[in-house]
Amino acid sequence: MPGKLVTVGSYSTSYEANLVKSGLDAFGIDSILIDDHTINANWAWSNLLGGVKVQVEESEIEYALQLIEAEPSDEQDEKDAWAETGIVCPTCSSSNTRYFLDKSGSFLTWLVLGFPVLPSVSKRACTNCGHKWRI
Ligand SMILES: [Zn+2]
Repeated sequence: MPGKLVTVGSYSTSYEANLVKSGLDAFGIDSILIDDHTINANWAWSNLLGGVKVQVEESEIEYALQLIEAEPSDEQDEKDAWAETGIVCPTCSSSNTRYFLDKSGSFLTWLVLGFPVLPSVSKRACTNCGHKWRI
């Protein structure tokens, strides 16, 4: 990476930054993480340091940003796909369910240990009876 490096995103956890880095790697874009190890050692410093930064060579910034910004629409497609599968609540059989990411495990381990150990979990919730389940 001989060129000037520019930040294309910053993330509150090393986990999120590594996901983006892996995505960029898959499309042949070299990237590096800044403050990754420091924030891994003490997650509470994430806000102070501005998060874990993902940097790419300046000449690849446009392509990298296109790839990063494409991610939410993929996630939306995944949610739409779930909505079309006709999933019903196991408790009340209502088809009025929604997808969400449960971050409570990450938050609890951060409170106890000082860093998040458990990843976020994909779950569905029934808007009819409030039942939540893992998918
Ligand atoms: Zn229900």
